[in-house]
Amino acid sequence: MITSQSVACSPPLTPSNPFTRWNFTQPMSPLLMSSSSSKSMRFSCSLPHQPPLRCAILGAGFAGLSVAWHLLQNCAKELPLFIDIFDDVGIGGGASGVAAGLLHPYSPKVKPLWRSTECWSESLKLVQVAESAWCSRVQNMDTEGAVRSLNLSLIKKRGILRPAVNSKNLNIMDNNAQNCLASCRIESIDKDAAVALVPGLSVPLNLAFYMPEALNIHCQHYLEALYLACQNAVTDNMSMGTATREMNFWKKSIYDIREFAGEYNAVVVCLGARAAFLTGFGEIVPLRLCRGVVARMELSDNFREEYPDHSPSILSDAWLAVQGPRNLQLGSTWEWGSTNHSRTVSDVEASRAVEELLPKASAVYPMIKNWTLAEAVAGLRGMPPLTSHGSLPLLGCVDDFVGGNPNCQYWIFAGLGAKGLYYHALLGKLMAQAILSRSEDSIPSELLSWKQRVKK
Ligand SMILES: Cc1cc2nc3c(=O)[nH]c(=O)nc-3n(C[C@H](O)[C@H](O)[C@H](O)COP(=O)(O)OP(=O)(O)OC[C@H]3O[C@@H](n4cnc5c(N)ncnc54)[C@H](O)[C@@H]3O)c2cc1C
Repeated sequence: MITSQSVACSPPLTPSNPFTRWNFTQPMSPLLMSSSSSKSMRFSCSLPHQPPLRCAILGAGFAGLSVAWHLLQNCAKELPLFIDIFDDVGIGGGASGVAAGLLHPYSPKVKPLWRSTECWSESLKLVQVAESAWCSRVQNMDTEGAVRSLNLSLIKKRGILRPAVNSKNLNIMDNNAQNCLASCRIESIDKDAAVALVPGLSVPLNLAFYMPEALNIHCQHYLEALYLACQNAVTDNMSMGTATREMNFWKKSIYDIREFAGEYNAVVVCLGARAAFLTGFGEIVPLRLCRGVVARMELSDNFREEYPDHSPSILSDAWLAVQGPRNLQLGSTWEWGSTNHSRTVSDVEASRAVEELLPKASAVYPMIKNWTLAEAVAGLRGMPPLTSHGSLPLLGCVDDFVGGNPNCQYWIFAGLGAKGLYYHALLGKLMAQAILSRSEDSIPSELLSWKQRVKK
């Protein structure tokens, strides 16, 4: 029987418990920059019969939250499930929170990416899950809050336009575009049609590729909404009379994942590029790190001609991810080898980035000269090695590398590179299935092949 009150089952704080060493006493509000005095965020329902499955998810970006959602969805109804999410910044504290939010299933040469149909469809499903949670929150707000939230929409269905800028790849791109997905079409259009979509656009080779169904996501809001969807799944469970579910957020820096042994049945490393900084992981995880600065641009009041509401975002040597008629994100720089994961960008770094990005943006959208820098932010990408299937994320069990434990399995889900939104949904689902079955069988071999190279 379900108790009418929610029963919190956070890790006990006994002197022998390693949590006491970490100097925190209650779960935190997970939102970025929240203060440590925030209200406890604890979501559970109770049905105390079976020993629970305890999962620690390290990192609250695209990877971590997708795993959390899919664990909640795929866990057997009668199995109590306890999820603790750890992050030292908050939800969207890493690259996910600063990503441009351009979501489509194609390579720069408009070729469908690995498992494009599945990845695209799972991403759309997860975006829809988040959007529903976001809307349900808006419905419960007072009018002022609701209006504010609606203005901060999660998804813009404005599409994406890629003008061809390199005559060398023209035929290849045109051919690739013919093999597009039915659910995310690519229309090859000429200059006139492209300019009708984006007034003022420059189309140097009289050819552009238009993806009308591609999405523009507000990533920070998306992540907050996905977290909310997970919370809702926990509380919904309460009314259904099934086994206990609980999810807590802990604000904490992680240095060595072996700290978690003994407390959890599964520990999942979803730390993005920073997975490489964990003790012993530098040698295991073949990630190349690359810092990217995004310039948040505003159209100054002196200019009346706004970016049209339904005009697509633009992909080129630089991208323009349009957020509203007077604000867009311009990105991104690629500083290979950087280990700087700070979101904060100094004035010097910001002006260097704008100097680099403006000429690239002007080549396709000359009107960018009317826009000014409002803010610059940055994220560190963890780029995986190239395989015959392209650059694929790294998944799998890492017990062989960190020292297994009969009661606890260690997993990794990293290397989402520059395509985190595209990969996170399907691969988060596969990761959750692997954790629940305690087996890598659900993970395609091409995502595990990096482990063979480590062993050599
Ligand atoms: C400038 C830029 C633009 C991008 N634009 C796009 C785009 O338009 N579309 C797209 O699909 N992808 C884009 N990407 C790529 C995308 O952002 C990444 O693939 C994705 O964010 C990786 O997600 P993740 O969850 O693996 O890592 P992260 O988002 O980095 O999440 C890791 C989390 O772990 C936490 N963490 C890390 N280390 C520790 C630690 N030791 N202790 C505690 N917490 C820790 C961090 O705070 C963070 O919240 C972009 C990336 C950049 C940098």
